[in-house]
Amino acid sequence: MSYVGPDFEPPRPPRRPLRGPLTVAVAALVPGALVGWLVWQAVGDSGGDGSAAQASSSPASSSGRSASPGASDDGKEQPDAGTGQTGGSEEPGKSPPASAPAASGPLKGKVVVIDPGHNPGNFQHTSDINRKVNIGTNWKECDTTGTSTNGGYTEAKFTLDVSRRLRTLLEEQGATVKFTQDGDRAWGPCVDERARIGNKAGADAVVSVHADGSAAGNRGFHVILPGSVHEGDADTRPIVTPSRELGERIAGNFLRATGSAPSNYVGDRTGLDVREDLGGLNLSTVPKVFIECGNMRDSKDAAQLTSGAWRQKAAQGISEGIVSFLRG
Ligand SMILES: [Zn+2]
Repeated sequence: MSYVGPDFEPPRPPRRPLRGPLTVAVAALVPGALVGWLVWQAVGDSGGDGSAAQASSSPASSSGRSASPGASDDGKEQPDAGTGQTGGSEEPGKSPPASAPAASGPLKGKVVVIDPGHNPGNFQHTSDINRKVNIGTNWKECDTTGTSTNGGYTEAKFTLDVSRRLRTLLEEQGATVKFTQDGDRAWGPCVDERARIGNKAGADAVVSVHADGSAAGNRGFHVILPGSVHEGDADTRPIVTPSRELGERIAGNFLRATGSAPSNYVGDRTGLDVREDLGGLNLSTVPKVFIECGNMRDSKDAAQLTSGAWRQKAAQGISEGIVSFLRG
């Protein structure tokens, strides 16, 4: 089993040739994390803070009942078999409001666009989100509702929570941070518009935040990288390499910060996956990745995802990956 990211050099089985350049970066960065990784190897996943203890402080956006999401732009979230009830005990509290970037810091002058996946209001606008949009390679739903935990904590709330924490961390380091939506619109935006927001901002990096809805037992996080696509409005050729660099650094730092393992059901436990069917990536002209932070349908992962303390670590890991990428 191995995991390749800019911050780790774990023992690894033979892998696809893609990751050569990574090895160099890996060894250079964080020995501590290797220890953490090896500990995880040795004792199995500690389940992050393992506590399902409620979020000490994190946001509750307008409750979004997640009604059968279908295949979303991340194309994998399973239909929501849960009650879609919100207000379960997993309900979090308050997340930091937007503020101005710090006057100085390592990210001064950098623009980061954060794309909180889905929207808490999507379930109330099914005809709008089911409308097809062009993603270059084909036509796809505008957006989906996203998945939820069995306890009813919705992915749409999770993504806003982690994204807002991430914004605060990046602004503290001087970055200008823009959102594709901040729970401040009734539904959407559509996947094509989400890509255009990053393009228009001239973002130095874009991250789309999600959590997966897969079978129980499927665990861990993975980062989705754009494949090389050149069709219709889609041309990812210029961003494939920098997006991989961004993705590897986020994966490495996410693992170190959360202690969570790379996915055991996508990407051969490398924590990385390459896709050519996601509108949000296909239409991007700036470095961009998606991160699936864990599986909301697995009880152990759900215990992490519903924990405010763990979500803060997740935001920290993503932030450090972005900083590491932007500082080159
Ligand atoms: Zn999603």
